[in-house]
Amino acid sequence: MATTQTKDYYGALGVKKTATPDEIRKAFRKLARKYHPDVNPGDKKAEEKFKEISEANDVLSDEKKRKIYDQLGFYSDSIDPAAAEAAARGGYGGHAGGGQQGVPFDFSGFDFSDFQGGAGASQGGGFGSSFRDIFSGMFNGGQRGGSRGPQPGTDLEYHVTVDFWTAVRGGVTRLEITRQETCPTCKGKSTTGGSAECGECHGSGQVTQMGGRMKFNIQCPRCGGSGKVQNACATCEGHGVVSRRSPLEIRIKPGTRDGQRIRLAGKGNAGTDGGPAGDLYLIIKAGTHPVFKRTGDDIHVTVPITVVEAALGAKIEVPTIDTHDGAGRTQLKIPPGTQTGQKLRLREKGVPSAAHEGVRGDQIVEVKVIVPRVQDERSKEILRELARLNPEDPREEQMRDV
Ligand SMILES: [Zn+2]
Ligand SMILES: [Zn+2]
Repeated sequence: MATTQTKDYYGALGVKKTATPDEIRKAFRKLARKYHPDVNPGDKKAEEKFKEISEANDVLSDEKKRKIYDQLGFYSDSIDPAAAEAAARGGYGGHAGGGQQGVPFDFSGFDFSDFQGGAGASQGGGFGSSFRDIFSGMFNGGQRGGSRGPQPGTDLEYHVTVDFWTAVRGGVTRLEITRQETCPTCKGKSTTGGSAECGECHGSGQVTQMGGRMKFNIQCPRCGGSGKVQNACATCEGHGVVSRRSPLEIRIKPGTRDGQRIRLAGKGNAGTDGGPAGDLYLIIKAGTHPVFKRTGDDIHVTVPITVVEAALGAKIEVPTIDTHDGAGRTQLKIPPGTQTGQKLRLREKGVPSAAHEGVRGDQIVEVKVIVPRVQDERSKEILRELARLNPEDPREEQMRDV
């Protein structure tokens, strides 16, 4: 966007605002002789001054440029003279602010620093940006017709809850989504032909915008100044799309993870006037299971074993997520001397990977040694006998380290 500066050109040349072209020319010549770089070699200040008066002369000696400068308080090559004229006319609205009534566009009291630097709110209190917004319509590219042309549809995001087994083994889940579909009446064109008065400017082609304390008339952005817009389609009220709730069947891949994002290209909101549809994103919330805990593609199961199984070793059956072979069980060898909390790995008994075909996670079995609650004297005697035969102290090491 064009950089626009406000400068006191009349002051730079030392002339009144009512100065004639002849007075301006004479004032410039006099100053130019004084500040010309040839006369002041190496003098930076003189060079700056020369640039300043040259710029002032450039604008004020040109009738068209001077007019815009007088209307707006600044000049830029990218300003449309007609828009400047319209803006200046808006200044007569009596809203020009206290003490300035009837004065067309006297900007001298305003701080333009925001406008120039675009550095956000300083003393202007946000005035700078709104001012810029207003004028942006006056600069190049302000011409827009009534039709927006093809617009792509926006993306949609839905959260989908699937149960544990559907996420693990895959399956089909159904949900209802609300999305914008191409309007059946206008086929997304937003109009059914013919034109009507623009609702924005009521046919005048101009709209009034407020900027701080000022009021501007600018070209209507909706109709591009023509005052007319194409008839809006009654079905979609000119949006080209209608909101529809429709059922959707989604295939869930085996191994789908909790939090996984699934993209369905072109299943988002419909575009208008031939624009492409957006995408539909599904965020999967996978259910849990009372026995199987899932971490990525691995399955964790805690399996209780007896003291005797832990001490002597054993072959036990543990549950797995496979129900097709042996009703979801597999044999696991507990080595002699297994401690409680120890983890044993069953390779490739985990969840099939959704990302890599043919790859499976593992099942990790954590053993929990269950201590018997002995009641009878005979069992107690056997345990005491066991203790006599194995006199080691399990806390010995810990005590040594204290
Ligand atoms: Zn329509
Ligand atoms: Zn309009």
